[in-house]
Amino acid sequence: MMSDKDWSDMTPRERDAWIAEWMGHRPDPSRCRICGWSIGESIADGCTYDNCSMRPPPSKRYDDPLPYTTDMALVRLAEDKIEQYGLQWEYAQTLAFIAAPSSFHHDQGCYGTAWIVLRSTPDQRCEAIWRMMQTASDPVEA
Ligand SMILES: [Zn+2]
Repeated sequence: MMSDKDWSDMTPRERDAWIAEWMGHRPDPSRCRICGWSIGESIADGCTYDNCSMRPPPSKRYDDPLPYTTDMALVRLAEDKIEQYGLQWEYAQTLAFIAAPSSFHHDQGCYGTAWIVLRSTPDQRCEAIWRMMQTASDPVEA
């Protein structure tokens, strides 16, 4: 699942949306992307593609992605998928170099690397998955 932007150029919402799509979560296109009601022919039927009928609009949009880049419990689900694909070693290596680009901690051996990975943020973990998938081929892509 290639991305046309680099991770550092993506907004938090774009990052969450990318991970969510990789996890297989896609908003139902037959529903209003704002409130989630079904799309009708006219506003009398509910919402149209360009016009949500809910006033005021909901504080959380139907198409808001789950907050993978800030929620460690959600990232664990993404890591389960990495493990199912047998990519856990490549993931750990990618994550270690994202979380600690300098060689200092890596010089501490496997425990130094383990510490780097243990202390990595959800955003760094999502970036590691994203970086791996920029070069992956099927069937790893969701
Ligand atoms: Zn709506």
